[in-house]
Amino acid sequence: MPANFSKIKTNNIIFVSDRGEEMESGQSRYNEYSGFLQRKYGEKVYKLPVNLPGTCPNRDGTVSTGGCIFCDEEGAGFECLPSSMSVNRQIEENKAFFIKRFNGKKFFAYFQAFSNTYCDFKLFQENIAAAAEDKDIIGISISTRPDCINDTYLDFLHRVKMERGLEINIELGLQTVNYHTLRKINRGHTLGEFIDAVLRVKNRTFETVAHLILNLPWDDETDVVECAKVCSALGVDFVKLHSLYIVKGTVLGDMYERGEFEIISLDDYISRVVLFLEYLDPSIVVQRLVGKGPQGNLHFCNWSTSWWLIKRQIETTLAERDTWQGRKFDYINGAAVRKFLKQEEQ
Ligand code: SF4
Repeated sequence: MPANFSKIKTNNIIFVSDRGEEMESGQSRYNEYSGFLQRKYGEKVYKLPVNLPGTCPNRDGTVSTGGCIFCDEEGAGFECLPSSMSVNRQIEENKAFFIKRFNGKKFFAYFQAFSNTYCDFKLFQENIAAAAEDKDIIGISISTRPDCINDTYLDFLHRVKMERGLEINIELGLQTVNYHTLRKINRGHTLGEFIDAVLRVKNRTFETVAHLILNLPWDDETDVVECAKVCSALGVDFVKLHSLYIVKGTVLGDMYERGEFEIISLDDYISRVVLFLEYLDPSIVVQRLVGKGPQGNLHFCNWSTSWWLIKRQIETTLAERDTWQGRKFDYINGAAVRKFLKQEEQ
């Protein structure tokens, strides 16, 4: 067991992270988002998706015209209201739904589809200001690409944070740390831009969320471990894990039809998630173990299994293997010299 970690009984873990934070996870073997929300806000907080008419530098020719090979035309905004609706109206309609259905009281505005910091700066300011107007909004979550993180936009967000007392979190698509795979999937950026973006975001004390796909066909378990290590070393606050879904008509869909790659089995995906969690800093909150994927027009999504069943299987596997998030988190802060410090203590 690593020196920075203590386990007091099989299902009840106290995490003591490298950052000195201590938390008890109850019955969970990983740092679940629901537990984090309960600790931080005392209740569930709902994300209200906001869909902006937009594009992405990886599609409009600034970086590339093709986009990521798995991206469909909706730019990963398949759960959103139409982008022709105003920001205020989308927030109102989504909020009404969550209040009626779940008695929700606290909300984040969630700019989800495409790359939401990739627009004219004036328009960006107007969109954020519109979301910040709503009295029930306690935070703004913005999904974007690492190469769309710029100091001027971040400074504006910092002013909004200070003036309105809002949480700001920035979701960054990384998908993998493997340079060769990033090229293969035509991400149009590498790990370098991701590191730069995380450091700039952290510099403003915003929270960072890293999106990762653990079953990219060109990655293996070494890449999965490295993803966990890079997120931990950079101190990202949250991770969201997805499995790769294959939409018909995309570059990836065409490659799938031609039989150019294979998707790993569900058992192997579960093993990769477990491995990822073992190497992940226990203080990093896991927002998602598997994505939901869009409906229809698909070649492949989640092994035709519901996301919550996969989530449950991952949790069962963690218990069966008697393992947990951070079990192998012993590699940072000069692990090789730790033995000298132990001698010092004696
Ligand atoms: S960065 Fe996002 S919106 Fe842009 S091409 Fe890739 S998946 Fe699509």
